Amino acid sequence: MVKRRKILIPMPRSKFLVVRCPDCENEQIVFSHSSFPARCLVCGRILVEPTGGKAKILGTIIRELG
Ligand SMILES: [Zn+2]
Repeated sequence: MVKRRKILIPMPRSKFLVVRCPDCENEQIVFSHSSFPARCLVCGRILVEPTGGKAKILGTIIRELG
């Protein structure tokens, strides 16, 4: 019988997110705990604003990676 167990990782709440730019609908991958602003690669709009902890996501989160 196989037991399922959860694997603990050091930063369980940090992850990569696919975010859609509200201005140009470009989708790109950003880090949820980014310590620096991430800009849209197409139009330059800021998509992630660092807050010291979990970053503020300024676009639409399409899905989470990993
Ligand atoms: Zn954009």
